Amino acid sequence: MRVGIPHMGNIYIPFKSLFEQLDVDLVIPPVNNQRTLSLGVKYSPEGLCIPFKLTLGNLIEAAEMGADTLLMPGGSGICRLGYYAKNQEQILHDLGYDTEVVQIGVSERKLFGLLKIIKRLSNNAPWPKIISAFRFGLAKLNTMDRIERVVQKVRAVEQIKGTANRLFTKAISAIDKADDYAALKKVQIDYIDQLNQVTTEPDFQPLIVGITGEFYVVLEPFSNLDVEIELGKLGVEVRRTLFVSEWTKFSWFLNPLGVDEKDRIHKAALPYLKRDIGGDGWESVGEKVLHAEEYDGLVHLAPFTCMPEIIAQNIMPSTKENLPVLTILCDEQLANPVC
Ligand code: SF4
Repeated sequence: MRVGIPHMGNIYIPFKSLFEQLDVDLVIPPVNNQRTLSLGVKYSPEGLCIPFKLTLGNLIEAAEMGADTLLMPGGSGICRLGYYAKNQEQILHDLGYDTEVVQIGVSERKLFGLLKIIKRLSNNAPWPKIISAFRFGLAKLNTMDRIERVVQKVRAVEQIKGTANRLFTKAISAIDKADDYAALKKVQIDYIDQLNQVTTEPDFQPLIVGITGEFYVVLEPFSNLDVEIELGKLGVEVRRTLFVSEWTKFSWFLNPLGVDEKDRIHKAALPYLKRDIGGDGWESVGEKVLHAEEYDGLVHLAPFTCMPEIIAQNIMPSTKENLPVLTILCDEQLANPVC
């Protein structure tokens, strides 16, 4: 069995670590690029969102590289994500690839469902080995996100633009190579230390801009034209509440214990939107309300044709909280209407 995965930011690093430790033959397709997008656009049904197109492009590229079992997130929520794995499998079959697309349930089966899939993919590896590999993958994920939070601050104020990005690229490579907890800890300490020593503009007060919107386009830089890096070049400090490590912490461990991290944000959105509308639309509205005092502006990333974010986009201008919002519609052709 050769397992292929789609991309979303640097998420392939923990997956690589997990599957290497379990001796699973993992195929990592090229990081998102113009060819990936072109393949996805060419073979997607019209009107689908960019997460579908890019992940389809990834799965095709993984199949070209010999993967026969492809992983794809799915869910039982209100948006159409739940149908993607089946549709993509059918498209791959039509293209002549004899591949199985395995859906990883991100909402209904949670952690146990994922562990059962890993057990199957690892040819029934013993549970202690799976748990140990899984924990180490999570540790890599946490380390990446801890360093990225510092990068977001330094980018805005660094004197030589691009320094924080270069350090982050090196940190990601070092995290990838780290093969035990001690090495991982050292990478975290070393790189946070180096980032804190970057020469910054004296007395410069950066604008604070939040990034919100649909999960995939917020976390996949290729789909949003590296908006965080672009803002950093302009001296803007980006704040984002969405990190995969946060999502896993709550979704897999704390939500089942009754701790709902989204309560606060949903409550904030209630005067304008009373229910979940699928995807991340409810949270996008809540982010504007919740952070109106704290941010100077908000960038709202919305995949073109994504109904949850279209609803959020239309509600945002009518809230009484006075925070400028720039909605960027992410697709193979970008547009940026200002609310
Ligand atoms: S939330 Fe929107 S962009 Fe994301 S998968 Fe659903 S429809 Fe597509």
